[in-house]
Amino acid sequence: MKRIEALRTIVDATRDLPVVATCAATSRELASVEDRDNNLYLLDAMGLAISVGTGIAQATAGTSVSRTVVVEGDGSLLMNPGAALTAGYLEPENLVIVLLDNGVYASTASIPTHAEKLDLGRIAESVDLKVLRASNTTELKEALQTSLDQPGPWFIHTRTEPGNEPGTKLLLIDPVVHGDRFRRWLTDRIS
Ligand SMILES: [Mg+2]
Repeated sequence: MKRIEALRTIVDATRDLPVVATCAATSRELASVEDRDNNLYLLDAMGLAISVGTGIAQATAGTSVSRTVVVEGDGSLLMNPGAALTAGYLEPENLVIVLLDNGVYASTASIPTHAEKLDLGRIAESVDLKVLRASNTTELKEALQTSLDQPGPWFIHTRTEPGNEPGTKLLLIDPVVHGDRFRRWLTDRIS
């Protein structure tokens, strides 16, 4: 499964949910699939998608926003694994982390990450996240459905092929304007 195929599956499952996406190519490809008000692209803030998503999940607990979905990469997770530990410690039942694990830093010449050897799903299990695994779009769709139906916190360990989608446009959105667009969507969605 290519990353963009995984992102299309995620977009289909999250029409009405906040989606926090990790930096660089993942955010660009998500925007290329569909640039929606409920997407929050972290642009250059590598390693913080789970932190931001955990905060939003906690802030929206008990509201009409049933889930917060984080799209994280293996390199980004390895940059800040403490975020996953904190999510496991805080146990937000409404948090869904989708790890798109291609085993490389695809935005920087596809240098291998530690995920080449380490099973990040097992690490997530060790900090009490509920782990599902997917290696194709059918499995990912089923895992997402489970994570939306049953309380988490979920961690969907998704294997994708290395590489970026050719021809994807740069994401030159002003971070302040973008953050405000997302905040307005979330505020309207709750009220
Ligand atoms: Mg990667």
